[in-house]
Amino acid sequence: MRVLYPGSFDPLTLGHLDLIERAARLFDAVVVAVLMNPSKQPCFPLEQRLEQIRQATEGLSGVEVGHFDGLTVTYAQSCGAQVILRGLRAMSDFEFELQIAHTNRTLASRVETLFMATSAHHSFLSSSVVKEVARFGGDVAHMVPPGVAIDLERLFNRQAAHDSRYG
Ligand code: ADP
Repeated sequence: MRVLYPGSFDPLTLGHLDLIERAARLFDAVVVAVLMNPSKQPCFPLEQRLEQIRQATEGLSGVEVGHFDGLTVTYAQSCGAQVILRGLRAMSDFEFELQIAHTNRTLASRVETLFMATSAHHSFLSSSVVKEVARFGGDVAHMVPPGVAIDLERLFNRQAAHDSRYG
């Protein structure tokens, strides 16, 4: 069975990766797909996010990387995924995720949403927290894969250099 794991992944964290690894043990294939959401202004361009995911999942068999815009259920159907996987960190995630899951069911009743509880030691992690820590020079090595840590350092060094020149 194939599962779709959609998200912004701006950037990929070790929490996301943990979910991908666990899903890869349960499903024949995990399609990790970056949603190009027009209402969100990402820090990393699409191609860079895809590369971060490809690099971090290189050694995992059964993991595919893709991207999409529009409806998640339509993409799930087009890539042959019967299940959409979402991670739950805390109750605060639950209400919104449940609303989306119900909506998706009304759109495509045969596509199931599966929630997986995140690992306890990753439950505080989010892409936004990682960006805040990196922006102020904090160490993010325990939060993101090595390639993402390098990308974050480059991004915020470049921004700091730009700000000191023009800011
Ligand atoms: P979105 O904008 O779709 O919420 P995210 O990249 O923030 O995109 O999250 C994608 C998925 O990964 C969501 O299901 C989210 O709950 C899950 N997720 C986010 N952070 C973690 C984490 N620390 N551990 C496990 N799953 C997570």
